[in-house]
Amino acid sequence: MYEGAIQDLIDELGRLPGVGPKSAQRIAFHVLSADPADVNRLAGALRKVKELVRFCTTCYNVAESDQCRICRDPRRTDEVLCVVEEPKDVVAIERTGEFRGRYHVLGGAINPLEGIGPDNLRIRELMTRLSGGTVRELILATDPNTEGEATATYLALMVKPMGISVTRLASGLPVGGDLEYADEITLGRAFEGRRAV
Ligand SMILES: [Zn+2]
Repeated sequence: MYEGAIQDLIDELGRLPGVGPKSAQRIAFHVLSADPADVNRLAGALRKVKELVRFCTTCYNVAESDQCRICRDPRRTDEVLCVVEEPKDVVAIERTGEFRGRYHVLGGAINPLEGIGPDNLRIRELMTRLSGGTVRELILATDPNTEGEATATYLALMVKPMGISVTRLASGLPVGGDLEYADEITLGRAFEGRRAV
């Protein structure tokens, strides 16, 4: 336990996901000994992310204008829509270079234990997009864990009666895992080998 500002910083860092008490302490002392210009850049980046970054009004990916870079790209097809849980999953799929369609970011997955139901996700917004009639294939790329599977099953039931082909990423992804942790090759293959549900 330290006094004043250094302890405040350790406490704040310790509240971040994946940062334990020891890491919080190590980062805090690193900041203390770092060049002031580096620390100012970090502080500026933290402030700017809250000021500038918002969610794309079309797909709910992170964006710095009304629409994200992917929604604004005229070279991508509107006929294939890939549903993911979080913006970080968009990044994981983009890294594979396998996908040239658009995305829809749900903002999580169905999780009854944490009180997250379909109404808490951007499912209504997805249905509105699909009702436009342009989308021919919906790829369900939710995480390969219980919540992700439940969400995929729910969406498949909702969307299939609309006459849209619904696919799920192929197995090969580590079960119980998180999409973002899959390496590019595994995720790329899962994408190519997606199957109808
Ligand atoms: Zn977008």
